[in-house]
Order: sequence, then C-alpha cells, then structure tokens
Amino acid sequence: MKCERCGTTLNSQEDLYEYAGQKLCEDCYLELVSTPKTCDPWAVHSAKGFADKRDGLTPIQQKILDILKDKGPTSAEEICASLGIDEGEFRSNFAPLRHMELARACKVGEKVCYTLFNGS
Ligand SMILES: [Zn+2]
Repeated sequence: MKCERCGTTLNSQEDLYEYAGQKLCEDCYLELVSTPKTCDPWAVHSAKGFADKRDGLTPIQQKILDILKDKGPTSAEEICASLGIDEGEFRSNFAPLRHMELARACKVGEKVCYTLFNGS
C-alpha cells in the first residue's frame, strides 16, 4: 500500500488518510488539508462591468483591464509605468487575459498597444 501522492509506503491502515478520493500518507494529507482555500476577494468586484470571466483574475490583471478601459489602447511601457511592474510581469499577467479574450494586442501606427478585447 502506497501513498498515491508521494509514493511513501504505508505500513498499515492507520497510516492511510483519504482525501478527495486519494489514499495518502499523513504528510501529504496534512499538506493538502492545510493548504488554504483560495480566497478571492476580487470576485466581489466581478459583478460589475465584465462578465463572470473576470473571476480569478489577479489584482494586476484587474488593474490592467481598468487601465485599458479608461485609456483605450495603451503601450506596455505605459501600463508597466502606471502599475510599477516590469515588462516580464506584465506579459505573464497579460497572457491569461488574452487567453480569456478579455484583452488583446493592437497596433496604433507602428506601436504595439494593448486594448480590451471588445474595445475599439
Ligand atoms: Zn505521501
């Protein structure tokens, strides 16, 4: 009998913990049950403005959307400057927004900007 998560050998039924249908050793069990449930205070704000797709966005993603909503097409540099993040952070936050079709890249002249997916 082995822990389904880490593979530790379980000596007896007493060492076996069940969680979410998995048979686990005590260590794994405690780790799973002690992991705080994702608390999402931002979900409260999701009722207004956007569809429920907004649930689960990070605060930075929310702010990116707010900026795009206020300003229209905005360059990465401007967004980074307003939020105090670097471009890598912007990109990693932007990718899910694009994936969820909440925001997209667009071109303003020769410049790449970012805008709301359904924005002008
Ligand atoms: Zn384990």
